[in-house]
Amino acid sequence: MARLKNYKIATIGSHSALQILKGAQQEGFKSIAICIKGREKPYKLFNVADEIIVIEKYPDLINLQDTLIKKNAILVPHASLMEYIGFENIEKFKVPYYGNKKILRFESDRNIEREWLKAAGLKLPKIFKNPKDIDRSVIVKFHGAKGGKGYFLAKNEKDFKQKIKAHKEEEKYVIQEYIVGVPMFIHYFYSPLTDELEIMGFDKRYESNVDSLGRISARDQMALAKVEPSYVIVGNIPVVVRESFLPRIIDMGEKVIKQSRKITPGGLWGPFCLETIMTPDEEIFTFEISARIVAGTNPYIEGSPYTWLKYNEPMSTGRRIAREIKMAIKQNKLNKVLG
Ligand code: ATP
Repeated sequence: MARLKNYKIATIGSHSALQILKGAQQEGFKSIAICIKGREKPYKLFNVADEIIVIEKYPDLINLQDTLIKKNAILVPHASLMEYIGFENIEKFKVPYYGNKKILRFESDRNIEREWLKAAGLKLPKIFKNPKDIDRSVIVKFHGAKGGKGYFLAKNEKDFKQKIKAHKEEEKYVIQEYIVGVPMFIHYFYSPLTDELEIMGFDKRYESNVDSLGRISARDQMALAKVEPSYVIVGNIPVVVRESFLPRIIDMGEKVIKQSRKITPGGLWGPFCLETIMTPDEEIFTFEISARIVAGTNPYIEGSPYTWLKYNEPMSTGRRIAREIKMAIKQNKLNKVLG
């Protein structure tokens, strides 16, 4: 236990940091929140950080490396780290990093990510390379788009050409088949120590304005000029999936892990999420993978129904990460979970 005390768990104060820091403390680690000036309050208020390091801007994290190394910190990544630091910089990071850095480039490019998921045997929405080929409803996604802002739906080539005019500055986009169904975000955890895939929970996103359009009648929607759906995430809602879907869902996660080992040494480990749409025909279309903790696990700081079944104690994804690191330290296998 003495050796455990030497390590600290650090993360950027944003996204899912509350549960990562809380989980670290629950497992006996000291926790460090790295916050942009002015954003420290939640981490003080909820008392989850043993230490708060304030930086002026995200790139300053690069200069903080020696300090973190001296503190014996292990950095736990989440989407904000990816977004603000970029995977190329993260790949060069010297601070011990939880997860496999090599997988980041596979999830940061939509085309490469698609190849991975396809090779894993998952069902994916069709991609239209040429607008001429649009023969069904599509969703147009911009690469640089922040949280689904500006995405639009189109029903054919003419509609697409009309709507794309408003996005002249956007160069990179993907035209994807629009799947009519319900979104389901599946949270997994894979442990290379136990070689086991765990289901941590499910969520659906609360997106503005698409989740409130249904509150306005179609007639009023038509009357309101320029109401286009947008997919800007503002929160996450817990979901329990129909139990008969679980065998397929477990199978999907296992295939993704298996395939990840073929694309890069060590493959994917730790938390990850398949972002899916489930149709009335009970098909599951995966439109994205997040190869790290997702904010959809935030409703489950006390654990989800699924982690309760497995652990009989509150087990958030943040805590599960800390437990994994703890197990690795105890078994002298830290190199298996850091990458
Ligand atoms: P992320 O934060 O996951 O990177 P993003 O900005 O890349 O988000 P997506 O997750 O690709 O955006 O899509 C945003 C939303 O659009 C989804 O949550 C879902 O509601 C909807 N959506 C995405 N793809 C499809 C699809 N093929 N069919 C139907 N709805 C979709």
